[in-house]
Amino acid sequence: GAGLSVRDLVVRYAARRGPGTTAVDGVSLDVAAGEVVALLGPSGCGKSSLLRAVAGLEPPAGGTVAFDGEDLAGVPVHRRGFGLLFQDGQLFPHRDVGRNVAYGLEVLGVPRAERDVRVAELLDAVGLAGFARRAVTTLSGGQRQRVALARSLAPRPRLLLLDEPLSALDRQLRERLALDVRATLRDTGTTALFVTHDHAEAFTVADRVAVMDAGRLLQVGTRDELTSAP
Ligand code: ADP
Ligand code: ADP
Repeated sequence: GAGLSVRDLVVRYAARRGPGTTAVDGVSLDVAAGEVVALLGPSGCGKSSLLRAVAGLEPPAGGTVAFDGEDLAGVPVHRRGFGLLFQDGQLFPHRDVGRNVAYGLEVLGVPRAERDVRVAELLDAVGLAGFARRAVTTLSGGQRQRVALARSLAPRPRLLLLDEPLSALDRQLRERLALDVRATLRDTGTTALFVTHDHAEAFTVADRVAVMDAGRLLQVGTRDELTSAP
């Protein structure tokens, strides 16, 4: 099918002694084309490990990760066509806002004029129209994550993987940004997997929420499906 398909995924970390840690213990999860799914669960339940295995940053000990029907085993990170966004967006400090957003387009060899149009569109989408020539050092934490989101969307990734992208921000700002992230992902038609430990944030951002605990998926559904469960 179209989109991400994770089947019976296992992620393990070896230990010097003893059996090691099974961080992801047989998880199956689909993200359809254009859909935003949140992976919700307490710290240490295996969310990041699952996301990292999907990204190609962690080799699975079992199971498969496929996109649009193609098995991604052995496909390196940069060949997956995925975008990544972490808690600290790690902007390039010596590039201005516009050149941060343009980075992936420069790598792809997109011509200057086209880059400028796309950068302006994306800055507008994240609420930072007119910020292109600003130094990133002058931005607030929230503005930096907005720029990081725009940068991750610039190459039009076929899947965007977001790992606690709002967790470093204060609560009020998080709530506002969650709404803006939702709108930006919708407006750009982006397929996304959004990792968070925050219940409200998960339901704000996502079409469906996958609830994880101790390496396993407990349930997956829309807000209505999960809240009307017996
Ligand atoms: P979450 O993202 O839900 O906080 P993680 O995937 O980061 O969970 O961690 C799941 C489990 O795997 C935890 O027990 C954690 O300590 C362990 N873990 C995560 N990364 C590593 C690593 N690089 N080496 C060893 N253990 C790890
Ligand atoms: P944050 O979410 O990081 O707090 P805000 O949206 O509150 O960012 O904006 C911070 C500053 O940037 C405010 O002074 C705001 O007026 C200004 N600002 C926000 N969006 C725009 C925009 N599209 N054009 C010009 N200035 C903007």
